[in-house]
Amino acid sequence: MKYLVVLAGMFWGLIVTAQQFTNLPVNQYGKATVQTLRQYRELVKADSSQVLVNLSDAVPHLKISMPYSTHQNFTQQVLYPQAAAFLKKEAAQALKIAAEALAKKGLGILLYDAYRPFSVTEKMWQIVPSEDYAANPANGSGHNRGAAVDVGLYYLHSGETVPMPTLFDNFTDTAHVNFMALPADIVNNRATLIQAMEQAGFKVLPTEWWHFSLPEAAKKYPLHNLSFAQLLRSHKKG
Ligand SMILES: [Zn+2]
Repeated sequence: MKYLVVLAGMFWGLIVTAQQFTNLPVNQYGKATVQTLRQYRELVKADSSQVLVNLSDAVPHLKISMPYSTHQNFTQQVLYPQAAAFLKKEAAQALKIAAEALAKKGLGILLYDAYRPFSVTEKMWQIVPSEDYAANPANGSGHNRGAAVDVGLYYLHSGETVPMPTLFDNFTDTAHVNFMALPADIVNNRATLIQAMEQAGFKVLPTEWWHFSLPEAAKKYPLHNLSFAQLLRSHKKG
């Protein structure tokens, strides 16, 4: 009986998900995509878990340093006209749990990227069309769904960045989470980050120590192509 209830719940989840996304237009790859603030508001009205939360309000001690809003990133181009950090509610809550656990160890979360408009994923692909370096727009990215986040750590007492195996967006084997030819303190720092994030509900990407996403995100959340200006405007209106 218990299993029947669980199965029925899963089935209902699938129906609800499918219904939500049928109202959305699809992009050139056939994927449901939120393209206007009106579509976003309707999605949130139907299901409050679809809201994108402003992380600067939601996550304690969060230090936002987004390289895609500067020239200092792998594309060497400014990809965001302004930096803002948003995630779906479930992901924002998980990040808050991780931040609280890390604060007890004197550490804060250094945020490199969170929600990313789909148009930016397309632009990254135009500049660097390789799945070793960028998400293929045909699949979209967990970032486009507001369910993936790129993070490091900093020391709360000094504000200094905690040393990790590589800098953000280093696409060598050294960034792999199982790369062990490193000083012991660096291995420990990486383990501290991954443990806090995974205990909060994220999964690390095996090839990028900084990239964490919610499992099953593609089933729960459509792609979004809203700019940060649109999201900030929508957020102000509540
Ligand atoms: Zn990422």
